[in-house]
Amino acid sequence: MIIVLKQNSDEKQLSHLTDWLTAQSLDIQMIKGSHSTVLGLVGDTSVVDIELLEALDIVESVKRIQEPYKKANRKFHPDDTVINVGGAQIGGGSFTIMAGPCSVESEEQICSIAQSVKDSGATVLRGGAFKPRTSPYAFQGLRADGIELLLEAKEKTGLPIITEIMDISQLPLFKDVDIIQVGARNMQNFELLKALGKQDKPILLKRGLSATISELLMSAEYIMAGGNEKVILCERGIRTFETATRNTLDLSAIPILREKTHLPIIIDPSHATGIAAMVKPMSLAAVAAGADGLIIEVHNDPPHAMCDGQQSITPESFDKLSRQINALHSAVKEMY
Ligand code: PEP
Ligand code: MN
Repeated sequence: MIIVLKQNSDEKQLSHLTDWLTAQSLDIQMIKGSHSTVLGLVGDTSVVDIELLEALDIVESVKRIQEPYKKANRKFHPDDTVINVGGAQIGGGSFTIMAGPCSVESEEQICSIAQSVKDSGATVLRGGAFKPRTSPYAFQGLRADGIELLLEAKEKTGLPIITEIMDISQLPLFKDVDIIQVGARNMQNFELLKALGKQDKPILLKRGLSATISELLMSAEYIMAGGNEKVILCERGIRTFETATRNTLDLSAIPILREKTHLPIIIDPSHATGIAAMVKPMSLAAVAAGADGLIIEVHNDPPHAMCDGQQSITPESFDKLSRQINALHSAVKEMY
């Protein structure tokens, strides 16, 4: 339920109202937007008498939220959420480019890619340390050592880092990681989501391979319900009958999510297509469709990458693409 307050409402009356709602075991979130102030109520709102609320001097209107996600709902929080990570702003009109290898392979590899993507305009470094692989015989990532190497690259370049967590037990290793990534395969690992809800750092939540948009939002709600509202959504392609690409990039998820939620929306064209040559057209399409950013796999030697070389672009291609992305974003941003 949301209560929209009249402009310049009396502080004393407002505190009476919040005390009364709190006494009914409701969790209140006050959101001061640019146009109005709203109180978002989470909990059993069936106990609230809407007519009584509407009759109050300071109340403009009262609406029930039908959707099962509340904190992630744009009705609850009309303005875009903006997340600050090491100087980079994610959401709210800026465009964020995260880039780096699928997996961290060595100190030399991660530090040199980090420097080149930074020079080309990326503001977040990606790199997998714990890798979810289809085969147990495939490279599983450098694990704790991989995180150490990412931290070294962070120290050298100043770039904040994003890396994937696969299990709650790994959390202590993520202490100095700037953004924790929840991979597609873990989107509905509810115990992990609950644990991340207790963290005070941004979480990039990838859409599951066969998850609907509303399931993605419910997973974001799990994290937010625990108290962590810094959630970034990521569309990375879904499973369809099409086999020409690794997955099918659901670009229509961008405008749908934009309407339903205030959370930033990032597109991963690398996992969505599985083909390096398709990263450019799909990145540009995502910009045109109104995404808040991209996460792109970049490798200095794609044919010899230990993971996902076929979809990784070189630092040189990334440099060109990054400029094209920014030029296109400048042209389209006024249209949204
Ligand atoms: C990744 O980003 O390295 C990854 C494994 O992605 P996804 O979870 O989208 O498959
Ligand atoms: Mn990958």
